Amino acid sequence: MILHPTYDINDQGHLTIGGLDSVLLAGEFGTPAYFLDTDAVRNMCRLYKRCFAKYFGENSIPVYAGKALCYKGLYSLIAEEGLCADCVSSGELYTANAAGFPMDKVFFHGNNKTDSDLRYALEVGVGHIVVDGIDELLALDGIAGEMGKNPTILLRITPGIDPHTHQKIVTGNVDSKFGMAILTGQAFEFVKAALECNNLTLDGFHCHVGSQIFDIDPFTEACDIMLAFVAKVKGLYGYEAKILNIGGGFGVRYTEDDPQIDYEANIRALGEEIDKMCAEYKIDKPMLLMEPGRSIVAAAGATLYTCGTVKSVTGFRNYVSVDGGMPDNPRYTLYQSKYTILNATRANAPADFPCTVSGRCCESGDLLAEGISMATPKRGDIIATLVTGAYNYSMASNYNRIPRAPIIEISGGVAKVAVRRETFADVASLDI
Ligand SMILES: *Cc1c(COP(=O)(O)O)cnc(C)c1O
Repeated sequence: MILHPTYDINDQGHLTIGGLDSVLLAGEFGTPAYFLDTDAVRNMCRLYKRCFAKYFGENSIPVYAGKALCYKGLYSLIAEEGLCADCVSSGELYTANAAGFPMDKVFFHGNNKTDSDLRYALEVGVGHIVVDGIDELLALDGIAGEMGKNPTILLRITPGIDPHTHQKIVTGNVDSKFGMAILTGQAFEFVKAALECNNLTLDGFHCHVGSQIFDIDPFTEACDIMLAFVAKVKGLYGYEAKILNIGGGFGVRYTEDDPQIDYEANIRALGEEIDKMCAEYKIDKPMLLMEPGRSIVAAAGATLYTCGTVKSVTGFRNYVSVDGGMPDNPRYTLYQSKYTILNATRANAPADFPCTVSGRCCESGDLLAEGISMATPKRGDIIATLVTGAYNYSMASNYNRIPRAPIIEISGGVAKVAVRRETFADVASLDI
């Protein structure tokens, strides 16, 4: 096993993904390509479902955050596993709906839903709209009135904490484009305004503190602030929240330097803290929801590339160029995110070739990793990036008119195409 149960090395010294030989997979499906071990995804769904029911309460259901990875087949899987889903755009709603996902189990997010997004959400019968601010609240109330609907809503609240993670993925602090802050008092005005709306039913509150979080402290802090808020709102307006959705954010191990995370132990500890807080604030425990995205899909994915040019810049460094890059994985370029990258063809050979892994775009910043080592690669070797199930395909682009890579699902030792490779004709298909 390398990092996660999905990855291993076989007798040929090749990396395996979901038990299948990566060199053979690359030959069959071409490169670059994303592979997803759907058995591992299902295991994570089941772990969350079981742990939430056990430690958060019988009625607590995990809400899968589709922005991590979104395509029809995955929504079908999430529906089969009985999870709810969180969508952040009409495009994600459309995909969920097209996959037959039960729309009453969808939470619709976004800091700037347009009127047409709101209309579309009401048309398809989204279960909960998470309203981000007063502007949107009044717009939704008006649109719901026109359409003769009475949508159920949550209010996005900003608890104002710093989860000690990467600045660009911190969203729970006060100065944020998301939600309404408790600290400034605006969250209370928000609740009052929601209770005064004629066409909306307020079901509770939502917050999200950030991503790639490895311990429960930011979640405990967020729950403390949010449950105190629930209690204060009860005192002020006599309104008691039925749902408290505390967002996503559990971390994933990308490299050996990241800690192992015991999800069950974390959920148990958080559940115990929440029970104590509800008793302290003298409120009934709301239905508690969490929205894991990354931690459900990341460790089930891998991307395979073919090695092209290997170049040593004398006196500087070695560049290993692969046939993908920022179009399929922009995360190093965006956040300097660290990945485990290895020579899948020679996975047993010592990783003694120091290198920078570069993509194929006309952009010096198009890199996948710097300062790593792998077994000395030769043109034609298969290079793998591990833990790419989240925020890779969903963030992919056609930069340099490079067709998007396909998604190949692996289950029970069988691989099948779930999203086909884009063609050059696909890329040019919208040009008039
Ligand atoms: C991004 C996001 C999530 C998922 O976060 P992960 O880190 O992928 O678990 C959940 N809820 C909201 C509102 C988000 O913005």
